[in-house]
Amino acid sequence: MSETPTWNRFEPTYRELEARPLTPANVGDWLHDWSELDKEVQEQYAVLSRAKDEDTRDKAAEEAYLSFVREVVPQMETIGQKLKTKFLSLEGFEPEAEHTEFVKRFRNEVELFREENVSLLAEEIALSSEYDKLMGGLTVELDGETLTIPEAERKLLDPDRSLREQAWRGVADTKLSVSSELEELFLKLLKLRRQLAENAGCSDYRDYRWRQFNRFDYTPEESRQFHESIASEAVPLVAKVRDERREEMDLAALRPWDIAVDPQARPALEPFQTVAELEEGLNRIFNRLDPELAEQFNSLRDGWLDLEAREGKVPGSGYQSFFPKSKKPYIYWTTNGTHRDVWVLVHEAGHAFHSLASVARNDLTWNFYPGMEFAEVASQTMELLILPYLGEGEGGFYNEEDAARAKREGLERTLHQLPGQAQSDAFQHWLYAEAPEDVSIEQIDAKWLELEERFDPGVDWSGLKRERAKGWGYFHIFAVPFYMLEYAFAWLGAIQIWQNALNNPQEALAKYRAALALGGTRPLPELFETAGARFAFDRETVGELMRFVYSQR
Ligand SMILES: [Zn+2]
Repeated sequence: MSETPTWNRFEPTYRELEARPLTPANVGDWLHDWSELDKEVQEQYAVLSRAKDEDTRDKAAEEAYLSFVREVVPQMETIGQKLKTKFLSLEGFEPEAEHTEFVKRFRNEVELFREENVSLLAEEIALSSEYDKLMGGLTVELDGETLTIPEAERKLLDPDRSLREQAWRGVADTKLSVSSELEELFLKLLKLRRQLAENAGCSDYRDYRWRQFNRFDYTPEESRQFHESIASEAVPLVAKVRDERREEMDLAALRPWDIAVDPQARPALEPFQTVAELEEGLNRIFNRLDPELAEQFNSLRDGWLDLEAREGKVPGSGYQSFFPKSKKPYIYWTTNGTHRDVWVLVHEAGHAFHSLASVARNDLTWNFYPGMEFAEVASQTMELLILPYLGEGEGGFYNEEDAARAKREGLERTLHQLPGQAQSDAFQHWLYAEAPEDVSIEQIDAKWLELEERFDPGVDWSGLKRERAKGWGYFHIFAVPFYMLEYAFAWLGAIQIWQNALNNPQEALAKYRAALALGGTRPLPELFETAGARFAFDRETVGELMRFVYSQR
């Protein structure tokens, strides 16, 4: 790897921007120059983050990433704060319509900014990467074989019930083997997050996070109501799906290792053997949907997809990140040859389409992305729009029977996701706004169990209380707090766009793409509307959409 740039490389240009006299006449050029400089830093961050994730055992890559996070990013934040203040105090300047959203965000960010939080925020990122390191090193011993977690999880699709149980227990045990390290790490993060909120004068970390995420379009109280809508409308349907499965499998009770396998005991779907076959299959599917999207996907096959399983990759972590200078999206995922790989890659491709549509229309980096409530509409809509093309006759991977199976799996997954997302969000509302100052791991586990009972019906966990109680120990909870209910908001948008597509595919896709191109230049309700959906999450809307998904399986 070439030498990691230090702050010295960027500082003079930031200082020049800080010193340059600002007038309503030159503010456009000034913003452009600042944005280009931010893009250079973001590109460098993306490069280092990618190198670290490609091999979590590579010490040099880890150090380069951490030194960038600890030294360059905080400096950029600090001077960014000065530049925002300079920009906002410019007299006689009316932002153009395209700029009003980021101006709103700037104002909020300036108010939230505290010098003493800069190093804490860097420390938070560094601590979060500890999670990846702990999880990246885990393996499972099964029948004398050493498997990575994704390899072991693949066995959960095997018709052999005792093999599934062994694999499930193997994965649970290996995760439990690091639980004390994880818990210690989490308590550090919790303390640090509470400090961030206190420094910023927020009532609690939830309040802080709300503002840090620039959530202007809904309140914590409305999120709570959304949890209630999901509990009353989606959870009973999940219970019904699980009960149908239990009957189909002819079991007295479903155990945790019975919920991913085909209920008719058919072997797991095998959409591809090699990563190249997976990429080609998706290329064909996207071609059916829209040749332009297929071309965009294909352009990533030249070094911008890391999908192969290798030791040292972070299991279960899938993401798209955007390299703003190269103007390239990059997708990271670890395949294990299952149908999950198909939908994860389709999902991340949706994010990539969003990046490309937005960057083609918007110049300023602050206009690239909306809140994640809409960013996940871009990805999750793709999961639904490709459903008609899963069969071989349509370019996909499967014979007719398997295509129907994959569709049913996909729609049931959507149904299951909303309760899971509400559960995780409700957990974090409690953790960051209600739990006592000296909350213990025992109390955290107990809260998780209580929410499990409410949001995850139809599975018999007897004898597995400890495993179940530790279910909160996953990536988002550690690394991106409160990033979870966005997926549920986004599902409601994605399902509406899918409904539109069943009536008029061309028009639905055109609206979807028009909304992606808007990037972050509009508030959430307007982005949803442009995409052909309503930003609504009341009980009636949730119930209607969930019943629709259930009926389409
Ligand atoms: Zn996503």
